[in-house]
Amino acid sequence: MPNYHIWTIGCQMNKAESERLASFLEQRGYQATTAAEEADIIVLNSCVVRQSAENRVVNKLHTLRQLKKLHPGLTLAVTGCLVNSDTAALKKAFPHVDYFFKPGDWPQWLEKVTLGQVLPHPSNGRTVSVYVPIIQGCNNFCSYCIVPYRRGRERSRPIDEIVSEVQELIRRGAREIVLLGQNVDSYGHDLPDRPDLADLLTELNTVDGLARLRFLTNHPKDMTRKLIDAIATRDKVCEHISLPVQSGDDDILKAMRRGYTVEHYRQLVAEIRRRIPEVALSTDVIVGFPSESEEQFRRTVDLLSELRFDTVHVAGYSPRPGTIAAGELENNIPVAEKRRRLSIIEQLQESIATEINARLMGQAVETLVEGKTRGKWRGRTRSDKLVFFSDTGDHLGQLANIRIEKTSPWSLQGKLGKVA
Ligand code: SF4
Repeated sequence: MPNYHIWTIGCQMNKAESERLASFLEQRGYQATTAAEEADIIVLNSCVVRQSAENRVVNKLHTLRQLKKLHPGLTLAVTGCLVNSDTAALKKAFPHVDYFFKPGDWPQWLEKVTLGQVLPHPSNGRTVSVYVPIIQGCNNFCSYCIVPYRRGRERSRPIDEIVSEVQELIRRGAREIVLLGQNVDSYGHDLPDRPDLADLLTELNTVDGLARLRFLTNHPKDMTRKLIDAIATRDKVCEHISLPVQSGDDDILKAMRRGYTVEHYRQLVAEIRRRIPEVALSTDVIVGFPSESEEQFRRTVDLLSELRFDTVHVAGYSPRPGTIAAGELENNIPVAEKRRRLSIIEQLQESIATEINARLMGQAVETLVEGKTRGKWRGRTRSDKLVFFSDTGDHLGQLANIRIEKTSPWSLQGKLGKVA
C-alpha cells in the first residue's frame, strides 16, 4: 500500500483541510505514515499568518529537498497560505516541489496523482469532534491580515454538500461537528437563494446521531440577531461563541479596518448574553498595533475587564508584507513593549478565567469525551471547557456527566456520574 504524510501548521482551517485530505487519500488506498521518509506523497499544509510560521514552512521545504533527491518518485505538494496566485515564483524558489495548490483546490490536483481507485472508507477510529470547512476565503481586508490575499474571495459550500459530509462523518463515529470559516457570518451570500449560517445550523440540527454543533469564527460586524436566535433555540448548537474584538479603542479598530466600533461590540455581547444567558464567549486581541498608545491599550484592558470573556487569545502585532498595515503604517511599538502589554492581558485573563471556572465547582457538566491524555479521559463541555476524569470504562464519543471537583483557569477535573 502506498503511504502519505501530511505536515500541518496554522489555524483550524488548515487542520480541517488536512483531515479531509487524509480521508480523501485513504479512500484511494493510501495509508498514513508519521515518517516522511516512508511516504510516497508528502503534503505540507502551510501558514504564513506570522513570520515565525512562514520560517518554519520554508525550513521544512529545505529539509525535504534532500529527501526528494533520495526518492525521486516521491510526490511533494504544498498547500495553505504560502500558496498565492504567483505559483511560478514559488516553483522557481522551490523547484523540488511537484504541486502547489490553493486551499480547497485539492480534489482536482489529487485526481492526477492518486491511484484512481476508490476503496471503501476505513471505518476505524475517526475523531469524535471533526472540523468541516463551510466557507473559504475572506472579503474583509482587515489591514493587518494576509488571509484575503492568500485564500482569495469568499466561496461558500452548498448546504446539501455540507449535510452529506456531516452525515458521512457521523456514520464514521463523529459526534460533534465544528463548522469553519475565516468569517462564518458571511456564509451563503454567494450561493443561490442566499442561505445563511442560521439556515445551515437549522438544517444540521436535524441530522440523526449528531450530538453537538459548533462554529468558528464570527465577525462582530456581520453577526445577526437571526443567528443569535438560532444558537439560542437549536438544541445541538453549543453555547459557545468566538467573537474576535482585536482592540478596545475605536481609532485602532478603524486603523485595523475592522468595520465596527467598541460600542457596537458591547451591544452585540449584551444581546448575545440576553438571549443565551449560559453562553461562553472567547475573543482575540492584538496588542502593539502601529501607534497604539498606552491609553489606547488601557481601553482594551478595560473592555476585557468589563466584558469578562471565558477565553482571550492575545498576540503581539507582527507586520505581514503585502498587507495594508505593513505598507502604510510604521511598526513602531518595540518588541519589549508588545511583550509587556501581552503579559498584562494574559495575567488579567488568568484571574478572570479562574473566577469563571471556579463557579463550576460541585456542578455536573455534560462532557463529550474526545480521547485520553496521560491516562485520563479528556472531553469538553458545551461551553468548550476542557474536562478531565479518571475511569476504567471506554467512554470515547460518549456524553458523560462529570461532577466538577477541581478547577483552574485552563481546565476542570471531576468524577464520572451517569453516562448518556
Ligand atoms: S475577517 Fe479580517 S482578520 Fe479575519 S480573515 Fe478576514 S481579513 Fe483576516
